[in-house]
Amino acid sequence: MKHTDIKIIYQNCTSFFEKFVVVCGWVKTSRDSKNVGFVEINDGTYIKNLQVVIDKESFPELKTSLVFPVGTGVMVSGKLVKSEKNICELLLEKYSILGESPSDYPLQKKRHTLEFLRTMPHLRVRANTLAYVQKVRSALAYSSHLYFQSNGYTYVHTPLITGSDAEGAGEVFRVTTLPWDAKAKSEKEFFEKDFFGKPAFLTVSGQLEGETAAMALGKIYTFGPVFRAENSNTSRHVSEFWQCEPEVAFAELSDIIEIIEEYIKFITNYVLKNCSEEIDFFTKFFEPGLREKLELVANSKFVVIEYTEAIEMLKKAKDVNFVYEPKWGDELQSEHERYITEKIFKKPVFVINYPKESKAFYMKQNADGKTVAATDLLVPGVGEIVGCSERETDYKKLVEAMKARGMNPELYKQYLDLRKYGSVPHSGFGIGFDRYVMYCTGMTNIRDVLLYPRAPKELQ
Ligand code: ATP
Repeated sequence: MKHTDIKIIYQNCTSFFEKFVVVCGWVKTSRDSKNVGFVEINDGTYIKNLQVVIDKESFPELKTSLVFPVGTGVMVSGKLVKSEKNICELLLEKYSILGESPSDYPLQKKRHTLEFLRTMPHLRVRANTLAYVQKVRSALAYSSHLYFQSNGYTYVHTPLITGSDAEGAGEVFRVTTLPWDAKAKSEKEFFEKDFFGKPAFLTVSGQLEGETAAMALGKIYTFGPVFRAENSNTSRHVSEFWQCEPEVAFAELSDIIEIIEEYIKFITNYVLKNCSEEIDFFTKFFEPGLREKLELVANSKFVVIEYTEAIEMLKKAKDVNFVYEPKWGDELQSEHERYITEKIFKKPVFVINYPKESKAFYMKQNADGKTVAATDLLVPGVGEIVGCSERETDYKKLVEAMKARGMNPELYKQYLDLRKYGSVPHSGFGIGFDRYVMYCTGMTNIRDVLLYPRAPKELQ
């Protein structure tokens, strides 16, 4: 259908004045006065609606509130003129109804609660809030690609079906084509008959395969969905979420820290610039101070502190009663992370060199024998946003770390081979993409940044 996007009209308003255009969209509001009707339509290309003015004398059949109910799909055409607010509005000359919307259309009101909208995933993206979240999400995804592509990274697609469940510590979804066979004598016998001839799972991370690619392509990134069967019914956990996991050869911890800072600033700046109206909307209706928070991330120099220093600082904190006492050797709790980034430094902070027992087997063991070259990036308002480490390159140390965690090195032969043939220093990080969308939109429930959230007992 030949028509002009509403975004194009807004971008070039003055050049459209007095021109004839055809526009498509859905009716957002419909107002009626004695002689004139006003209908606002939106085609999804832009945050603002286009107002259509209907001279009822020319369209005697149009009682606007009846003919153009909210939700109706329409094609309208006419001349664009300057409105009182100095923007374009369309004087209706012709119209056709593309799809009617009867009076039981659930999104009649201008604003609904997010809880109510969650009950109808197939319709809720038509509500402004959810549509703007998708715009920000898209901008963050695009700018992530832009950053990596323009810095020499190769985008690799790591498999979603994997044969290894150990990295997920049991919190994995099984992939099978078999109905359960209670007569099977053992798991082995059962899975031998299955599609892959062995147990198969949905991946929890593309990192291990990403490392494989980095050993040939140097700089890679993955960007795709991962799956976790953890039974966490929180506002920050879902069972299917997106991760961006770059992996960089010839990079030590200090190098990857620089990359993370540059990347986070790049995507945050991109959103501030390209989704400015959406950010204003979220600042006004959801998180006062959102814009300032994002500007702080985009413009401040991130701090780097040792985990040991962080524990000392937390122990000295007098103005707070932590639920969990900070103790060397323990993971930092969310309350600790937020205190460090929000109260002590008031800007993003990299905490580096964590106790080795608290982190994964693949992280590079430091010379002190106690810590690993890992870092978490903490940001005000949420705490951890990125997890990162330099990877262990020493074959023997890696095998020892696996055994110490009760893992079977036999199952990681391919991963260990990377340490056998041309092993070089390399580092990588993972950003929970959905959590960063929450951060940039002020959404407090992860379900609202996904089109169709999947969580325990939730599969709409
Ligand atoms: P958390 O402590 O919040 O459960 P985690 O320590 O298990 O997270 P990692 O295994 O380090 O998380 O995963 C990397 C990133 O993926 C996290 O920083 C987070 O942003 C995101 N993430 C982890 N689990 C989930 C989930 N269930 N839903 C959405 N995002 C998640």
